[in-house]
Amino acid sequence: MDLTGKHILLVGLGRSSVAAAQLIMEKGGMPFISERNDGQSLENWLEICRTRGIPVETAGHTSPLFQTADLVVINPGVPYSAPCLDIPKEKGIPVVGELEFASWFNHSTVIAVTGTNGKTTATSLLYTMIRTCGYSVALAGNTHTAWSEVTAKEEQPEYTVLEVSSYQMETADTFHPKVAVILNLTPDHLGRHGTMECYGATKARIFQRMQSGDTVILNKDYAALRALPLPFQAETVWFGKARDGDKTGWSYDTAHFYQDGEIAADAKDSPLPGLHNKENITAVLAAAHALGLDWGGVLQGLRQFAGVEHRIEYVASINGIAFFNDSKATNIDSLRVALESFVQPVVLIAGGEGKGSSYEPLRSLIRDHVSTLITIGEEAPALEACFQKDVFICRGTTMKDAVYKAYTAASPGSVVLLSPACASFDWYSNYEERGGDFKNCVHALKEDLHTGEEKGK
Ligand code: ADP
Repeated sequence: MDLTGKHILLVGLGRSSVAAAQLIMEKGGMPFISERNDGQSLENWLEICRTRGIPVETAGHTSPLFQTADLVVINPGVPYSAPCLDIPKEKGIPVVGELEFASWFNHSTVIAVTGTNGKTTATSLLYTMIRTCGYSVALAGNTHTAWSEVTAKEEQPEYTVLEVSSYQMETADTFHPKVAVILNLTPDHLGRHGTMECYGATKARIFQRMQSGDTVILNKDYAALRALPLPFQAETVWFGKARDGDKTGWSYDTAHFYQDGEIAADAKDSPLPGLHNKENITAVLAAAHALGLDWGGVLQGLRQFAGVEHRIEYVASINGIAFFNDSKATNIDSLRVALESFVQPVVLIAGGEGKGSSYEPLRSLIRDHVSTLITIGEEAPALEACFQKDVFICRGTTMKDAVYKAYTAASPGSVVLLSPACASFDWYSNYEERGGDFKNCVHALKEDLHTGEEKGK
């Protein structure tokens, strides 16, 4: 697409729109960013816009470009149904998402990964494997670098591994990856998508335009994925838990990963904990195979990849109690998989800003795996009400208090796990900050106890 002289309105100020604005300027177009909110959290981005000469308005959408722009590009956080987009739509101005926009300038082979949970882990693992196979590769989308930033570069990588959220798929009309993976599909973001069917249909847009020679990799263990309308032309590869007599597709059990019923890799080849990670790894192995990567390089990447920060991340051990940070567990399902990853008794720290989900489905798991529950944040009363008959509970008034109470409740050989099942925005600006605070509190406690011991000597 020729952007020379084009006026392009970007709605929503953030990483993606700033990267898209840069790409537009490099292509000879004129970007303008319009942001509804004002406030300190945007100051970083405003500063970047000032230094790069990107015009911005904040605290409202008042620009005449809503009536006159040649194109509107929306940030992933802005829904296609946002009222501010009514006028451009009425005027017939094309409205696209940043993913779709960046795809117009892409020259590399794209692997897109979506799903409710595991996207960052799976994309990071595939990225590592492609690197160990000796190719140039970028990791982009969602939580990684904005894709516009990658496509703006003169030299694009041979491969781009894209983490795609359902939000970005709402406005992806021509985007089509070479390989698409849907890892799983469980209730999340229903506030935005309405029903599971709508959420599934949005995720399914990922393979809408795929062609023969492309591959769609789907998890057979999720009814919502089995029910998706299959693509006409791309090859479909299924993966999931191994079952007797499996002869096609990719599968896993606790010991191995299989292709068409034959061993393709050993579980010991990966240090990642938990069956949920076996699910992620199986999907990634299927993607690596679909790309025709050298298997020696793939296995080397599998062995090298130690996981991503804030996802069941080992922090430290204090007097035989191991502390794990799973701050990224912001929904019920990610708490479930974290609990299932441990055979040891768990002292669980959970809570934060609720998402309106019911905790009932977790009751038996909490009863079986958790010795003490420490509740935190706004959701503390709801968690206490749900689990009061199942487990001993106490309230943590701050993260420091929660870590200390967890330590005193735990015995040697057990695990203290922060896996909140909630968003972080009640106490923090994001889950990284929450995980960072937890880790700092654990290290500080270790230090305090050590200093106490030294003094006692
Ligand atoms: P995403 O990018 O989709 O949010 P992450 O890899 O960041 O996924 O993991 C988010 C949370 O989900 C973490 O708590 C992690 O332990 C958990 N998780 C990872 N993979 C899976 C999976 N396949 N199923 C369920 N939960 C998972």
